[in-house]
Parts: sequence; C-alpha cells; structure tokens
Amino acid sequence: MAKTREKQYCSFCEREKNDVLLLISGTNGFICDRCATQAYELIQDEIGGNERELPANESINTDKLLPKSIKEFLDDFIIGQDEAKKVIAVAVYNHYKRLVSYQASDDPTEIEKSNILLVGPTGTGKTLIAKTIARLLNLPFAIVDATVFTESGYVGEDVESILTRLLQASNYDFEAAERGIIYIDEIDKIARKSDNPSITRDVSGEGVQQALLKMLEGTTVHVPPQGGRKHPEQKLISVDTSNILFICGGAFDGIDKVISRRLNQQVIGFGRTNTSGTEPEDVLPFISHMDVRRFGLIPELLGRMPVLSYLKPLDLDALRRILVEPNNALIKQYKKLFAMEGINFEVTDDALDFIAEKALDYKLGARGLRSICEAIMLDLMFESPSKQEKDDVILTREYCESKLTGEAARRLRVAS
Ligand code: ADP
Repeated sequence: MAKTREKQYCSFCEREKNDVLLLISGTNGFICDRCATQAYELIQDEIGGNERELPANESINTDKLLPKSIKEFLDDFIIGQDEAKKVIAVAVYNHYKRLVSYQASDDPTEIEKSNILLVGPTGTGKTLIAKTIARLLNLPFAIVDATVFTESGYVGEDVESILTRLLQASNYDFEAAERGIIYIDEIDKIARKSDNPSITRDVSGEGVQQALLKMLEGTTVHVPPQGGRKHPEQKLISVDTSNILFICGGAFDGIDKVISRRLNQQVIGFGRTNTSGTEPEDVLPFISHMDVRRFGLIPELLGRMPVLSYLKPLDLDALRRILVEPNNALIKQYKKLFAMEGINFEVTDDALDFIAEKALDYKLGARGLRSICEAIMLDLMFESPSKQEKDDVILTREYCESKLTGEAARRLRVAS
C-alpha cells in the first residue's frame, strides 16, 4: 500500500520517521540518517575525500593554542580577571595536548582531564570566558543551568539533557560534539547545604552531583537526540564525554568568609596574619578546593574539576573599560548602529563614569551595564533614525542622569 502523504518517511528507503534516528527534510522529500551515512560513504569511496579523515585537532590552528596566545585572545574580550584567564589558558592548552596524546595512544601515561571550576560573583565574566574559548577553538558550545537538573524520576531535566544541547549546538555533528565545551552555570546551587548528608533525599543536590561526576570524568551517555525525557520507544544516541571540556561556574556567595576562616585558623600560633577587615576580593586568590567543599560540593565531583580559579568583583575602572574596550563593547555597538544612520556618536568621559557608577550601585556586575545603557539610549535610538538633520549625537552625564530618574530608575532598581 502506498504510504500516506501525512506520514513523513525517507524518500530513499521509505522508512518512516519513527523507525529512524533522524529524518532530514529537503525541498521535495526527506532523507534518513542511515541513507545519509551510506551516501556519504559512497562519496568517500568515489572521490576519496581524505580531508574528512583529518584528526579533529588538526583542524585547529595550533599557533593560536599556546597559553600566551590564548590569554591574548581572551584579553580582546574580557577585561581584567588576569588570574582566571591565565589559569584557563593553561588548562585549555593541556586539554588539547591531552587530545593529541589520546589519539597517539602508544604511551601509557594518561593526561588527566582539566575540567575547570570558576568561582566569582554574577556578571564578572565566567560565562563570557567559556564562550570566548569555544569561539577561539571553533568548537560546539552549550550553556546549561545546574538548577534545572533533578535526579531521574523527578520533575525537571535529567543531567543527560546537557549533551542534547551540545549535540544541537554542533548540528548533530557527533565528532565535533564529543570535543565540545559545556559551561554549567550556578553549580553552587546544587551544593549540599551542610557537610552532613541529609537523611531525606534531596531532589536537586547530591544526586545531581553524583550524576554529573560520571559525565565530567568521561563516560558514554545515552541521550535522546531531540531532548526531553527518555522513554522506552525513543531512539538514544551514545555520546562519549571523555574529551568534552566542562567549565563550571558559580557565585558561591559567602565563600570569602569560608576562605578567611580557614586562613585565620591556619595561622593560629604561627605569627598570625589576621584577615578580618580585609575586602572579600582580597582573600579570593587564596581559594582552594577545601573551601568549595565546605560550601557543599561533594569531594568526588570536586576531584573531577582539578582546575580552580576565581573572578574578582568588577570595580569602577573595570566597568568603565568594559563599556568601551572589548571587541564587542556596548559603546562600540551603539557607535556602529548610529553610523549606519549616518550619525557620529560620541560619549563624554563623565557620562561613562556615570554609567559605571550606576552599574556598581546595582551590584549586577557588567550585566547591569546593558540595561542601564538601554534605559538611557531608548529615546535617542527611537528619534534619531527619523531626523532629517544628521547631527552628531554626544552623550553627556547630564543627559544620562535625566534619563535615569523616576520610572526608569525604579524599573532598573527592581530588575537588580
Ligand atoms: P557571569 O560571571 O555571571 O557568567 P557573564 O560572563 O555572563 O557573567 O557576563 C555578563 C555580560 O557582562 C557579558 O556578556 C559581558 O558583556 C559582560 N562582562 C562581564 N564581565 C566582563 C569582563 N570581565 N570583561 C568584559 N565584559 C564582561
């Protein structure tokens, strides 16, 4: 019997959508994953496309991969945070040396995976660093929020869904996905609340940490390609996580106190240097895995994130520089938008000071800069395109102040 039009099926082998892993649509038909693979193999046989067989890391420009060059690349996008950038540059460099040694596997010495844990307040550049590294290496990149994970059987997402996102980001290129980068945000939110394991099961907490640790270490995970919960009829894809680099980030509110307490205890009886009265960021450079463990991450999971670094809260100067210096700085973006209207856009120094001061006030790190700029710029962006005269637009402190009064200021405060 002829297949009905409503059912989607492969135009080559006529298998229906439910019987295949993927059905790719074209203008007048579909092709399933099996036929696409067969077609690819045929092409390989016919035209001997050896380029495809290049080891994955050869496609990466290794000149760019030296730790110093990685740091320089990060410098173009991320202001300050030198320590974190340096630590990450080395970790990423070693990660790729590890991949090379993985392929040339005669040597029995195994280089351990260098998953990274970044600790620092919100809006200081943790996600941006991970994203920029993925851009440098031209690798698939996925961001996930640890708070959505729950143990299997509870309402929420299974930990495996992380890999579905990475597969989607790589356009289902498995080889690329298996070398990708995953950023897990808010890892501190799945910390166990105290050092004592609770008698009752915690829905998102230790169970999720246990599930994550296998993935971080490197294992084969069966994932539903389209996401969602696993169910018996669904086809699953195997993804090997051994070469995926995991970068985890979290604010770990109050970790400075944990560090201070440890430092003060350590020095008792040894000509103590008291950390009381110092700023929180002054103790951050002394952060150790022990402090994070105190905070409620289980030691096994911490063991899978051997590289630990911190990001400092952004001060006035850093916020001001973020407005103008990075490759995609906000002010550069506004300049470009105005230039497209034939308008020259300038910002005075004290206007920049004002915006940075406000961002500091709202305690949202650099995240606050965007909402502040948008509130200030709305009227200009609304009116300028319809003006006949293309006069220069100069943003002054007075103008910024006038736009951040009343309702606009209240809205920003609520948002923070
Ligand atoms: P988080 O630390 O919470 O992950 P993000 O990296 O997401 O913060 O930062 C939010 C936004 O703020 C970024 O997209 C970027 O525009 C800006 N930003 C934050 N920190 C920096 C920084 N150090 N240098 C440049 N831009 C930054």
